[in-house]
Amino acid sequence: MNSAPRVGVVGSANVDLVVRCRALPRPGETVLAGDVRRLAGGKGANQAAAAARLGAAVTFHGAVGDDEAGRWLLESLGSHGVDVARVARVARPTGTAFITLDAAGENQIVVAPGANGSLDLASVDLASYAIVLTQLEIDPAVVADVVARAPRVVLNAAPAVALDPAVLARADVVIVNETEAEALDLDRLDHVVVTLGAHGAERRERGRMAQRVAAPAVTPVDTVGAGDVFCAAYTVALARAWSPDEALAYATHAGALATLALGAQGALPTDQEVVTWLARASS
Ligand code: ADP
Repeated sequence: MNSAPRVGVVGSANVDLVVRCRALPRPGETVLAGDVRRLAGGKGANQAAAAARLGAAVTFHGAVGDDEAGRWLLESLGSHGVDVARVARVARPTGTAFITLDAAGENQIVVAPGANGSLDLASVDLASYAIVLTQLEIDPAVVADVVARAPRVVLNAAPAVALDPAVLARADVVIVNETEAEALDLDRLDHVVVTLGAHGAERRERGRMAQRVAAPAVTPVDTVGAGDVFCAAYTVALARAWSPDEALAYATHAGALATLALGAQGALPTDQEVVTWLARASS
């Protein structure tokens, strides 16, 4: 058996504080909510945890505060098998997302990036990774540095923010959902993957559809984090030197499995689970 491929993940780590109330507060209004829940989040941390769970040797490059929330986040990432030794502990507070849900599942989210804004890769060697995965919840200058220095980069261009076209063009693979795809000019890129929710995902070469994979039929419990698992799985597959065709099928099934439990890091499928579902789909 091959040894696990080395994957670097550069990105955000947040504590998600979630409360549910009957109706969302209007400006100036105070409402009471149920008990607060604390969940590990941030696209970078979610994708690192998902890649480790799928069997890659993952090092996370991020920044958390020198506070209890930061220690808790690192413990949680470590419990998924992610190497967190290179995560910076900085003076600003750990990134925090304040999430309010109403009875119908509608939400209001305020994100305080805090420590994520202090991420600095200047002393980090990216050359030893088979592949590096990053997203846009961190300083765009850090993302530009990653695509310039890492040997192979998967850029999940999410959330939808303005992005230097040169950075986009320099990434080896760009992964987006349908909304993000509409906001970006992707037609000149050789390797674009667009996720299509319950419809699966497709790969585009220079604006032309090259492959489409249907998602397996599931009854989703919570689709939050499915995109992060998809990105992690696609990256792990490429790090194993699989073809883009194989990577797309693997990632689409991994993403679907991630919808079957609550929380972004609460539903991370293992390699064996994805392989079992894939075998079922092709039999
Ligand atoms: P995002 O959450 O980033 O908008 P998508 O909704 O496109 O991303 O979902 C990412 C992937 O997760 C899809 O490509 C698919 O593999 C899987 N997925 C998401 N929602 C469903 C669903 N309802 N049924 C099956 N698979 C899903």
